[in-house]
Parts: sequence; structure tokens; C-alpha cells
Amino acid sequence: GAEAILGRQAARESAARTYARSLPIVPVRARGMTVEGADGRRYLDCLAGAGTLALGHNHPVVLEAIRAVLEAEAPLHVLDLATPVKDDFTTALFETLPPSMARDARIQFCGPAGTDAVEAALKLVRLATGRNGLLAFTGGYHGQSAGALAATGDVAVRAGLGEGGGAGASVTRLPYPYAYRCPFGVGGAAGARLGTRWTASLLDDPKGGVERPAGMLVEVVQGEGGVIPAPDAWLREQRELTARHGIPLIVDEVQTGVGRTGAFWAVEHSGVEPDVMVVSKAVGGSLPLAAIVYRAELDVWSPGAHAGTFRGNQLAMAAGAATLRFVHEQGLAARAAELGARMLARLRGLQRELPVIGDVRGRGLMIGVELVDHQLAPDDLGARPAAPELAQAVRAEALRHGLIVELGGRHGSVVRLLPPLTMTDEQAEAVLERLADSIVAAGR
Ligand code: PMP
Repeated sequence: GAEAILGRQAARESAARTYARSLPIVPVRARGMTVEGADGRRYLDCLAGAGTLALGHNHPVVLEAIRAVLEAEAPLHVLDLATPVKDDFTTALFETLPPSMARDARIQFCGPAGTDAVEAALKLVRLATGRNGLLAFTGGYHGQSAGALAATGDVAVRAGLGEGGGAGASVTRLPYPYAYRCPFGVGGAAGARLGTRWTASLLDDPKGGVERPAGMLVEVVQGEGGVIPAPDAWLREQRELTARHGIPLIVDEVQTGVGRTGAFWAVEHSGVEPDVMVVSKAVGGSLPLAAIVYRAELDVWSPGAHAGTFRGNQLAMAAGAATLRFVHEQGLAARAAELGARMLARLRGLQRELPVIGDVRGRGLMIGVELVDHQLAPDDLGARPAAPELAQAVRAEALRHGLIVELGGRHGSVVRLLPPLTMTDEQAEAVLERLADSIVAAGR
């Protein structure tokens, strides 16, 4: 039974694997937004593969696409050879890109995880610019790899990546526009503007202490960092600044892509055109797939400069193409925008009733509820101290109420909702009710 499996697994599995410990369920069946545990209990899944499952679990169009590949006896593993399946995926992906990017973009499959694609993006801009440094943001999340390239002996594959052959880019971390806890003590657009001025002063000042970097890496909405949408104007300012200084802008759309934020790609909200876009998670339609899409001028790879065994996952490409088309044809980005806005409004209503809710924010169906210690005094911006233990308790209560949620944020105090874009109005209603009940129950 479920208890036995959980016990055996906990005994064998490293504590480094956090989901297995923090979500005591044994999923055995799943469809759409519903996951069924080995104990027969059913849960509404607002974690959904950490935002991967745009169409929920086992969506018929995804299953059909996978079955078609299997039934055709198409090869499942062919490294990165061209195949009809891959051709179809690339066509489907390019059809979703902002027109200015689709026109002359190149794609490099990486894989299989988002981390791999981030690594490829960093390598690419370093090769293209001959520079090493990176501008990144406080609270950003881009993966957890730790230097396989630096350990590789083959000097040819490390060529052009500077000192250390790719290890340890010097990262200058800049303030992300986290209005609720703005490091400058100024909220809203004014706080974001100060962040841009900070970046500008570093780059414009010859003695600012930052060498011209190889790239800037940014999320349009920080996910793991606590569901923090960057203001559109701020992102446009980063684009202007990087363009002025000849710095490639890499936008990490691993979590925000494929309709999640209410536009097919989150960059569309601001109209910003990145030089490199990193895609993964939902593009594989629930199977592992990752790629970078970038301007043709940046395509400086020499043959073999970026290899990898698992860059051609045929099942993922088939599932991904079906997902991309379904999201596009069914207008699921617009649906995410509309449903997300309604959920945010409801959660803001709840915030007025429950003082432990410090902030509610999000874009589309990427929603965060930041929990605070309401008994402690607020700071100059009106933000009270984070309440990570309460967040843990809410997650546990949510599970008892039949709801799976994710936590995140700088202090682990943000309850994150990343439901499938196919969530119905009734399911959204149930999510809101169960979440409210869980927060009340945990706060007692
Ligand atoms: N970038 C972002 C924005 C992410 O949210 C994540 C994963 N949560 C990653 C990169 C890393 O992706 P993966 O876990 O597939 O390596």
C-alpha cells in the first residue's frame, strides 16, 4: 500500500530529493488536473510538474501523439538527426514565436532539462561575444548544474569560452523588481526604475567595476524566486540598456512559456525581443525537452561545439508539438489570462480577510500567495516578515484538503499555483476554496 511505499522510499531516497519528502503521496493515476494516490485519494494538482503540464496529465492529444510515434515504429533515439517528428516539432514551435523572432531564428536542441538549455545559452553568448561575465538577478532560478564542461578534458570543446573553459562566469547580480520587498525601500514602478538606474550606472560608469558582460539572463516572471512578475516597462528598460551596450539578452522562458502567463511567450506582454530564448518544461508536453531559440547572427557554434546524447527525444517532440498546437488553437493563453485575473481578484479579496496573506501576485496561471507573520511589525514598505513555517503548514493542510501546491520564494514563504491551462471554472473554484480553508486551518 501507499504507506509501505512511502516508508521504503523515504528510507532509501536522499533528503536532497525534496518532493518525495514534502509531498507524502504515491501517485498512481492522473488525468487532467486530477492525481490519484495509491491510497485512493484524489488531489487537484496545482504543481503540475512544476508548471510543465500545460494540458494537465495524460491529455488525449498528447497521448495520441505519443501513440502515433510508437505505432509507426519510428526510431525513439537517433541523437539529433533530422526526423519527420523533429521537423514537425520545430515547425510547430516556430509558429508560436513572436514574428520578429520566427523570421530568422535558429534552434539548438539541448537536453533534456531546462538547466541544459540555460547552459547552452550561456555558452553561446560567451562564444559569440568573446566575453565571460554575466548579468543575472536576485532571486533568479535557472538550474543547478555545476560544471561538467570545466571537467571535460577535450580542449577543443572548451575553446573560445575563456579562462577555465567555461567554469565560473563572473556573475554580477542585479536587483529584480520585487515590489513587495524592494531592496531600495521604494515600492511599485518607482522601485523597479531604481533597479534599472542601478544597472545603468554599473554599465555606463567606466569605473563602475563591471566589465562588459557576455549576456544578461532574466525571467519575465520569477517562478522559484516567488512568482514575481517584472513590470513590462522594466523589461523594456533592460532591453534598451543591453542593446545600447551590445549585451545579448537571454530570456529564460522555461517556466513562463507556452501560455502560462496569459501570452504564448511571456516576452510578448512587453514586446521585448530577446536575443536568446530558453525553452523547456511545457514545450515537451510532459516529457523532457529543452532548446534555445536565438537570432541567426548569434549562431557561432562550430560543428560539435555543443553535443549531448539526449537532444532528440522523439516522444517528447511529438508530445510537445501536439501541446503547442493545442494551446495555440484553443486559445489557452487568453484563457489563462482571463482565469488567472479572476483568481487573483478572488485571492486579493481573501487577503483582506486573512492578515497572514501579505501579498498576492502573478500573471496568467502563474500565481503566488506570500504568507507573512501578521503579529510582527511591517517594514517601511508595509511588508511583514516572511512566514516559511506557516507556508509548510499550508502545503500540508492543502494536501489534506485534496490540493497539491508548490512553495517558493526567497524565504520559502510563497504558495505557488501552476495549474494546467485546461483547468475548468469549477476546478478553479475548488482550488480557491481548498486553499482558503488550508490557510485558515494552518493559521490556527
Ligand atoms: N529556468 C527556470 C525559470 C526554471 O523555473 C527552471 C526549473 N524550475 C529551470 C530553469 C531549470 O529547469 P530544469 O529543472 O528542467 O533543469
